[in-house]
Amino acid sequence: MPKKTKEPTPYTKGDILELNITDISTDGSGIGKIDGYTLFVKDAVIGDFVKVSIMKSKKNYAYAHLDEIIKPSDFRIEPPCPVARACGGCQIQNLDYTKQLEFKNNKVRNNLIRLGGFDAEFIDSIMEPIIGMNDDHFRYRNKAQFPIGTDKNGNPISGFYAGRTHAIIPVQDCLLGVEENKEILNIVLDHMKKYGIKAYDETTGEGVFRHVLIRKGFTSKEIMVCFVIQHKNKNNPQKGNSRTENKPSNNAVSDYINHQEKLINKIIAINGVTSISVNINNEKTNVILGNEIHTIWGTDYITDRLCGIDFRISPLSFYQVNPVQTEKLYNTAIEYAQLIGNETVWDLYCGIGTISLSMAKKAGHVYGVEVIPQAIDNARENAVNNHIENATFYVGKAEEVLPDFYEGKLITKTSAYNSTSAEVQHRKALHPDVIVVDPPRKGCDINCLETMLKMKPERIVYVSCDSATLARDLRILVDGGYKLTRACTCDLFPNTVHIESVCQLIRE
Ligand code: SAH
Repeated sequence: MPKKTKEPTPYTKGDILELNITDISTDGSGIGKIDGYTLFVKDAVIGDFVKVSIMKSKKNYAYAHLDEIIKPSDFRIEPPCPVARACGGCQIQNLDYTKQLEFKNNKVRNNLIRLGGFDAEFIDSIMEPIIGMNDDHFRYRNKAQFPIGTDKNGNPISGFYAGRTHAIIPVQDCLLGVEENKEILNIVLDHMKKYGIKAYDETTGEGVFRHVLIRKGFTSKEIMVCFVIQHKNKNNPQKGNSRTENKPSNNAVSDYINHQEKLINKIIAINGVTSISVNINNEKTNVILGNEIHTIWGTDYITDRLCGIDFRISPLSFYQVNPVQTEKLYNTAIEYAQLIGNETVWDLYCGIGTISLSMAKKAGHVYGVEVIPQAIDNARENAVNNHIENATFYVGKAEEVLPDFYEGKLITKTSAYNSTSAEVQHRKALHPDVIVVDPPRKGCDINCLETMLKMKPERIVYVSCDSATLARDLRILVDGGYKLTRACTCDLFPNTVHIESVCQLIRE
């Protein structure tokens, strides 16, 4: 075998250097340069003058450890969270909020230019000011998923994974989450200790408790608690009590969690708890939730009000984590859709129908598509509960449902139309006025984009949580005959590097 030659690097491990931090990387690390050579320094912020030691060096760049802040940046702030540095959740909590917004807006701008191949001047002419959080930018998250593990002494712990690892940093009170999280976690950990219930061990695959998922409706104040557990020998996996009976179940679900009634009674004493469920995940995976879910107390869902509509949210359904900013994001998407009342709209990747139903109030008919069946159940219930009759939802992958619909395969499957008005409606859906997409980070599948181009909507509204895949997909749509006309970023995730964007495209 040929001997692997080592890349020449200007520095080696342990070298100590001093430098100015002049930029921030996409994952929130500080970036500085010495003679054109790039150094990534975690926890350093733009404007810091720092002393670092090289940890790992390559030909063109190195990762360095922040040894000392010689002169702190004017934008550096003391992070309010005591574990901000160790925890992987908030990458830029130590950066002034105005500067956070500037960094995020630039990140999207640069991706559109570099990865989307758009002209810088053009992007600057269409980008609108970033929509930041006005007041407090902590405690904004309505959802938290805490991993459960074991400390050195064998005691159960909950917290968050340290950046890029699966080591749990014990923390009950995340400052991005609601205050009730701490109380609930304390009850769970005490219960585990008292009854000797083991946390799931990722290496051996043994143990019970994997995660605790907590969600709170910010307007309804309803709280959902879902225990994600490993449960291999389930002899009698009956469903829990009915949706309406608000008392602990007597059904044969007791083997899910030992002494579960005691646990339930303590948790329901917390103000607002209306739903307790168990999710079974027996896979050796880092995917948090399994597919099997049993309500063990209360309702199968919680409700929350957004854009004037009440939404039912199940443990498995996607629901944006920052409701205050989500309303602003959706209102921008609605504005970009330019609805006057009779339009036909597709909402792809619709989740529980949040965007679909908000738009249905202002459009002729809306079609929603989503891959998670429980989310579509929620979307349909949400339409009924809010007396919205002009919305149709399909379960399936956008890249399969949309082509099937376009090629006429869905009609026969669902025998969706049998009247003239339904036929007219169907024809309109083949060439809609607007298509909205809000895909996960990996963006839209090429089959989905190609079908969208064939359907020739007048406008496309692209909502994105990853500006790299957004840029890639926008290029395909623009090359397919659309003009990028408006773009805006909205901060749904203060103190982290994540950012949402929304773009409007108009058919040329
Ligand atoms: N628009 C919704 C959900 C956006 S998140 C909201 O704002 O609440 C993205 C959604 O896409 C998730 O609900 C996820 O389950 C769904 N999804 C992921 N891959 C999909 C696919 N290939 N086709 C359809 N939906 C998909």
